[in-house]
Amino acid sequence: MGYQRRTGSCSRRLFCFPNSAFTNPPLAVTRSGIEPTTTWQEPPHRVEPVAKEPPPKENPMAKKLLEDNLSKQLASLMPRITEDVELIYSLDERDASADLKQLLEDIAALSDKVTTREDADAHERKPSFTIARKGTDIAVTFAGIPMGHEFSSLVLALLQVGGNPVKEDEELLDAVKGLDGEYEFVTYMSLSCQNCPTVVQALNAMSVVNPRIKHTAVEGSLFQDEVNDKGVQAVPTVFLNGEEFVSGRTDIADFVHKLDTGAAARDAKKLNEKGEFDVLVVGQGPAGAAAAIYVARKGMNVGLVGERFGGQVLDTMSIENFISLKYTEGPKLAAALEDHVNDYEIDVMKAQAATGFTPASEQGGVHTVHFGDDATLKARQVVIATGANWRLMNVPGESEYRNKGVTFCPHCDGPLFKGKDIAVIGGGNSGVEAAIDLAGIVKHVTVLEFGENCRADDVLMDKLNSLDNVDVITSAATTEIVGDGKSVTGLKYTDRTTDEEKSLELSGVFVQIGLLPNTKWLEGSGIETSGPGEIVVDDHNATNIPGVFAAGDCTAIPFKQIVVAQGAGANAGLSAWEYSVTGGKK
Ligand SMILES: Cc1cc2nc3c(=O)[nH]c(=O)nc-3n(C[C@H](O)[C@H](O)[C@H](O)COP(=O)(O)OP(=O)(O)OC[C@H]3O[C@@H](n4cnc5c(N)ncnc54)[C@H](O)[C@@H]3O)c2cc1C
Repeated sequence: MGYQRRTGSCSRRLFCFPNSAFTNPPLAVTRSGIEPTTTWQEPPHRVEPVAKEPPPKENPMAKKLLEDNLSKQLASLMPRITEDVELIYSLDERDASADLKQLLEDIAALSDKVTTREDADAHERKPSFTIARKGTDIAVTFAGIPMGHEFSSLVLALLQVGGNPVKEDEELLDAVKGLDGEYEFVTYMSLSCQNCPTVVQALNAMSVVNPRIKHTAVEGSLFQDEVNDKGVQAVPTVFLNGEEFVSGRTDIADFVHKLDTGAAARDAKKLNEKGEFDVLVVGQGPAGAAAAIYVARKGMNVGLVGERFGGQVLDTMSIENFISLKYTEGPKLAAALEDHVNDYEIDVMKAQAATGFTPASEQGGVHTVHFGDDATLKARQVVIATGANWRLMNVPGESEYRNKGVTFCPHCDGPLFKGKDIAVIGGGNSGVEAAIDLAGIVKHVTVLEFGENCRADDVLMDKLNSLDNVDVITSAATTEIVGDGKSVTGLKYTDRTTDEEKSLELSGVFVQIGLLPNTKWLEGSGIETSGPGEIVVDDHNATNIPGVFAAGDCTAIPFKQIVVAQGAGANAGLSAWEYSVTGGKK
C-alpha cells in the first residue's frame, strides 16, 4: 500500500489524483548516480467518468506514510547524505499538513543527518517545507506534498542538499554557478504531470549549485486560489521574480540559455569549432537516436544534434506498443534512448535547433546545417529526423491564449480544468481519447469535429458515447478562440451544414487535430517534400539529394509510431554508412 492523502473528497479532479498517483516510485542507483525512477504505474490511460467512481473513503493507513519497501530503498540511499540537513516545515489546519508532518518525520527517522523543525513563520504557503543544508544558504522548498511523479524530485533534493553532487555536464554547471543576480523561481506543478519533475529537478539542482537561485515547487491542488489568481492553466509553469517566465518541459540547459545572455554566442562558437562529421543526425527522437547508434556501430564519426532529446516520446504518457516492453512511459523511454546513445562515441549536441540547410555543391561534398545566424555544422552525410509537432488550428486567439486555456496535452493540463467546461477540437483517435480522459476530470466536454463524423476507432466511440458529460458536434469549423485578455472564455465555430455562426462558453480548449512535420528549416534547400512538408524518401530512406537521408515522422511514411521511426532511423543510418563506402554507387 502506498502513501495516500487523507483528504478523500476529490479523487481524479483538479490537482487531486487517484490514490495510485501517490504510489511512490522505486529508487535506483544508475550509471550517472542516484536517480529515483518513475516506474510506478500511471493511473489507467482512460479514466472512468467521475460518476462511476466509488465514493471517496478515508484512508485507514494514513499513519503509514512511507510503505515499507520504499522506506527500505530510501534508507539504503541515506548514507549518501554527508551534510546535516534540516527539514523546516510550516503547517495549517488541513489534513494535508498532518500528512506532510508525518512524511517528513518518517524521512528524518531514516538518517542521523536529517532532522525536522516546525517554524510557522518560515513559509507563507501552508503546508510547505524547506530542505536546508545546515549552516549554509543552500535550500529548496516544496509547497504541498511532493508525491506521485514528484516523489523523485523530493528524494533528489534531499540527496543534493545533503551533499550528493549534482550529476550534470561540468560546463553547464559552471554556467549555472556563473549566473549573476537574484533569482526567485516558483514552479506550479501537478502530481500527475510527467514533464513537471524535469523542471522541478532542474531548478532544485540549480539552487543547490548556486544558492542565489531560490526555488519553490508549488503543488497546485493545495493552492488553487493562487493558481487561479496567477492565471496558471498549464503545468509546469514557472514564474521568475513574480513574472511568468516559461511554461512546459524545461531543463537546466534551457534555463541557462534563457538566463545567460552570453550562452547563445558561446554555443555558436562551440558548434563552429566542431570538425567535419562523417554523419550528422539532426533530431534526437527515436528515429535520430536509432540512426546515430547504427552509424556509430560502423565506427564512423557521428554527431547527433537536436532541440529536445526524446522528441514526442517526452509528451507520451503510457506506451504499450514498444514491442518487448509491455508498458513504459514517455520520459522513461526517452531517458533509456539517451542512455543507450551515451554508450557510444557519439557527439551529442543538445538544445540546438537547426534553422537552415545547404546541401553539398557536388556529389560526395560536404553538407552544411545552420543554427541561427552564426553557427554551422558540417558533414559528408546527413540524416534528418526532426519529427513532427502539434498541428495548430490557426484561428484568432489560438496563440494569444496558448497555455491560458488553449492547450495540447490532456494528461498534463487536464487537472487544471477540474469542474469546468472544455472543448476538444478533433474527433480522431487522439481527440476522442482526450475527451474520454478529460470527462473524468472536468464538468463537461464538447468534442468539435470538422467532418460529418468522428474518425476515431469504434471502441473509443462506444466509450465516448457512454459518457453523460460529453457532447459531440460534427461539421463544426472552429473560427475563433475567445477570451477576456487573461484566459479563454469561449470559442466560436461555424456549423458547416447551415453556415450558421455559433459560440460556446468554456474555459479550456484542447487541440487534437494531428501533427505537422518539423521541416520548415529545410525550405529552400531543394529537398523534395510532399503534402504538409513531409520529406519524400526511397526504400533506403534516401532523399532526392545525394548523401542526405531522412527518417521518422518528418517523412512521408503512412504510420507515425515509435518502432516505425526507430526502424526507419536504423535504415537511414545504415544507408548513410553504405553511401560513405560506395559514394552513392549501387
Ligand atoms: C501524445 C503522443 C502520444 C504518442 N503515443 C505513442 C505510442 O503510444 N506509441 C507509439 O508507437 N507512438 C506514439 N506516438 C508517436 C511517436 O511518439 C512518434 O511517432 C515518434 O516519436 C516519432 O519519432 P521521430 O524521431 O521521428 O520524431 P520526434 O519524436 O518528433 O523527434 C524529433 C526530434 O527532432 C528534434 N527537432 C525538431 N525540429 C528540430 C530542428 N529544427 N532542429 C533540431 N532538432 C529538431 C526534436 O526536438 C526531437 O528531438 C505518440 C505521439 C504523441 C505526440
